[in-house]
Amino acid sequence: MTANGKAAGPAYPIEDHTYDVVVVGAGGAGLRAVVGCSEAGLRTACVTKVFPTRSHTVAAQGGISASLGNMHPDDWRWHMYDTVKGSDWLGDQDSIEYMVRNAPAAVYELEHWGVPFSRTEDGKIFQRPFGGMTRDFGKGQAQRTCAAADRTGHAMLHTMYGQAVRHSAEFFIEFFAIDLIMDDQGVCRGVVALKLDDGTLHRFRAQTTILATGGYGRAYQSCTSAHTCTGDGGGMALRAGLPLQDMEFVQFHPTGIFPAGCLITEGARGEGGYLVNAEGERFMERYAPSAKDLASRDVVSRAMTIEIREGRGVGKKKDHIFLHLDHLDPAVLHQRLPGISESAKIFAGVDVTREPIPVLPTVHYNMGGIPTNFHGEVVVKKPGDDDAVVQGLMAVGEAACVSVHGANRLGSNSLIDLVVFGRAAALRCAEKLTPDGKQPELPADSADKALARLDHFRNASGGTPTAKLRDSMQRVMQNNCAVFRTGDVLAEGKDLIHKVHGGISDIGVTDRSLIWNTDLIETLELDNLIVQAVVTMDSAVNRTESRGAHAREDFSERDDKNWMKHTLAWIDPKANTTIDYRPVHSYTMTNDIQYIPPKARVY
Ligand SMILES: Cc1cc2nc3c(=O)[nH]c(=O)nc-3n(C[C@H](O)[C@H](O)[C@H](O)COP(=O)(O)OP(=O)(O)OC[C@H]3O[C@@H](n4cnc5c(N)ncnc54)[C@H](O)[C@@H]3O)c2cc1C
Repeated sequence: MTANGKAAGPAYPIEDHTYDVVVVGAGGAGLRAVVGCSEAGLRTACVTKVFPTRSHTVAAQGGISASLGNMHPDDWRWHMYDTVKGSDWLGDQDSIEYMVRNAPAAVYELEHWGVPFSRTEDGKIFQRPFGGMTRDFGKGQAQRTCAAADRTGHAMLHTMYGQAVRHSAEFFIEFFAIDLIMDDQGVCRGVVALKLDDGTLHRFRAQTTILATGGYGRAYQSCTSAHTCTGDGGGMALRAGLPLQDMEFVQFHPTGIFPAGCLITEGARGEGGYLVNAEGERFMERYAPSAKDLASRDVVSRAMTIEIREGRGVGKKKDHIFLHLDHLDPAVLHQRLPGISESAKIFAGVDVTREPIPVLPTVHYNMGGIPTNFHGEVVVKKPGDDDAVVQGLMAVGEAACVSVHGANRLGSNSLIDLVVFGRAAALRCAEKLTPDGKQPELPADSADKALARLDHFRNASGGTPTAKLRDSMQRVMQNNCAVFRTGDVLAEGKDLIHKVHGGISDIGVTDRSLIWNTDLIETLELDNLIVQAVVTMDSAVNRTESRGAHAREDFSERDDKNWMKHTLAWIDPKANTTIDYRPVHSYTMTNDIQYIPPKARVY
């Protein structure tokens, strides 16, 4: 029986809703899109599986980049250069120009909305140094990252939620989106969702659906992201027959607390923290003579991994590295890094004013995702058109691949990506959609596929518990698709991850109810994760070069001739992947800056 006492089975009763725009996700990207769409007079719904202020954005620590120039002269062109270089020339330069040019206005907007930014002596927004951010096209460290102590995401998300409820948008909180509704023309017409607390089903019809569902860090065993980061939007896109882009590029943050995995922000190194090995050596001076501990994340993570491999790790098993903050003024730690001081105490039992923090590179961010243009419209490669727009569907935030981060994201460039492209998507909706516009009826069977999938897992009676299969997936990804990769290890990983995928057919869900059925929800999430794990592995096997976060020991050089292109990966229900490519946009948005040509990436 269902919650409503009606017969179980695919004939679930369903409640219908019609909006101009449905935003799935209430993190920074989703909320910014919601505010923009409702300001434009569009009837907007926001569907979110967790309460908005519990979205992973709340955990962002270090800050948000914008060339405000509060600490020294700055220029969006310098920010653009750094972002292109950080991306290892895989970022689309038109999108990067769009982001960095719009960044200062986006930060001032947040300030005016009430984000309590840390301040300089003279009352301006404080900006700290962050990895890979430089002045004057690489000539010295920039201070470009605006911060609210080390709780920037917390401040942003709460402020933005406040703004969103000021407007007329309607929130559907603790609603789990199951699948997109795609018509037979390939147009997205809305989304089907399950209300978690009463088990009712809901069909949202919309002129445009915006996926803002965040990353899929939980495909790995050790990651900094929340348990909710299961890449549901990417799973939905793949099931809708759409490709995901550049999935082989997974960012490891150098400083996850060992062994818990919780993040110590790069802002800690921005404030003067440094890494040492077992010999007490500041080894980053050898790997990145000028930027040292503030080289970009892929560079630092690789250096740490090499130190550990070569026997210079710290601890009994020599399996991690120390991060020192104990030389910093305790007042600075208290004022600028209070959150991480607390995390270090709780998760490593360390008093940062006296002892170093044990750290290890930990999965942190997905550069890959649903391919879009800089308006947030989802694009797909069609014969004769590399950037054909999928009607009715947009994606923003970590779920999307715009692509501004290319092969490696710079710290503090995600928070700015969220608000710039959340706003851009709303502007596009305002331009293209009619408020209260007429929409064709949905076909009677439009929710059937989503409901059949729900029903299938709800009644799954195989022998493998979801948690066990998830654990197998996370181990394979951690062992076979990590900081350094080789053909053999990846080939083994491909084999293993396809086996794990096969295990889905034997999954067993014990709870048959629809009310707060966490077993069922975690199974739907695992089903979303596993397809992304498979395309990540298959894309990594396929790319025979090293670029950004994808470091192949058997192909250690970047190969611009053959590989300066985006990977697109599709997957069918049997987990067969198809790989194709899209060209990197090697042109800018305007003539105010010229294309930045590739060169060697040294810090
Ligand atoms: C610990 C940590 C610290 C970070 N620090 C920084 C930093 O200092 N600076 C920076 O630039 N970046 C930072 N990042 C990266 C950045 O915070 C994230 O990339 C960004 O917050 C992602 O935002 P989002 O809006 O795309 O998604 P999220 O904030 O992850 O939100 C996803 C939303 O989608 C909803 N959702 C997902 N699936 C479903 C579904 N099936 N149905 C309904 N709703 C769904 C969720 O409820 C949630 O509201 C950090 C990341 C982590 C993990």
